[in-house]
Amino acid sequence: MPLTLPEIRKNCAIARLRMKQARMEHWAFGAFNLDDEATLKAVVRAAVNKKAPVLVEVSQGEVDDLGLYNIRDMVDNFKREYNVEIYVNLDHSPSVEDAKKGIEAGFEFIHIDISQSNHDATDQQIISATKEVVNYARLTGASVESEPHYFSGGSNVFSTNIDYQEIKKTFSTPEGAKKFVDETKIDTFAAAIGNLHGKYPVPKILDLDLLTKIREAIDCNISLHGGSDTPGHYFREAVKIGVSKININSDMRYAYRTTLEKVLQENPNEFSVAKLIAKDVIDAVTKVVESKLDDFNSANKALKPNS
Ligand SMILES: [Zn+2]
Repeated sequence: MPLTLPEIRKNCAIARLRMKQARMEHWAFGAFNLDDEATLKAVVRAAVNKKAPVLVEVSQGEVDDLGLYNIRDMVDNFKREYNVEIYVNLDHSPSVEDAKKGIEAGFEFIHIDISQSNHDATDQQIISATKEVVNYARLTGASVESEPHYFSGGSNVFSTNIDYQEIKKTFSTPEGAKKFVDETKIDTFAAAIGNLHGKYPVPKILDLDLLTKIREAIDCNISLHGGSDTPGHYFREAVKIGVSKININSDMRYAYRTTLEKVLQENPNEFSVAKLIAKDVIDAVTKVVESKLDDFNSANKALKPNS
């Protein structure tokens, strides 16, 4: 059943408060991408096992595939059934119109990113689209996230190495972050400090000194995209510095696919693929999510029911 506006506003108000607490208490929300119901189940199980608050997120491809309201309903059903603290984020929304739909559907978090669909978007276009979404989000109180320029990589497994000299050119700067946050009044700044979408043959390196300087320059929440394949110590440091949201996708997809391939091979006569997914695949993805929740220091941080 769709949420009413007062229910949406209540959820958004709690989510805002919780992001503030996360920053003060030095833990971060894991923001886990949903490909299907099986990945949602894995995230929920990990949240239950670790008593952690979680955020699940969908980008436009998943919205087109699953449906905005269906996603909201599925999450709410799981929330009720498993008694978990869970919120929904619209990830990399490609247009103001799509972001508005996410706000109306009751998503507590909205990431507006017009440069993902148009790499040539000008600074001014990005700023004005972000401002429009920030204004519209007042309807429900949803938190808005954005960044001043295109963030590279993709949620997949890459065979090429990471060229850090190239990537450094796209890093956030404390001055640039402050200017963007001041102009747009966003709630969450997506920082680029060596984090990169996707899995690569070499582990990622995060510039924590730069993160510290960005933390000092702005007063809103900070998120890290492209968290897959990042050594856990970086996350443990990043949450101490004050990151409150970390996005994970590729590590889950990798576990999903490699486990599915293995169990298909081991069970040539089982034609209920759903059965195989329900057992081994969900277990494998759950383990990935649990290890991230430990790294993000969010285990045992979930709100007690009805608190
Ligand atoms: Zn991202």
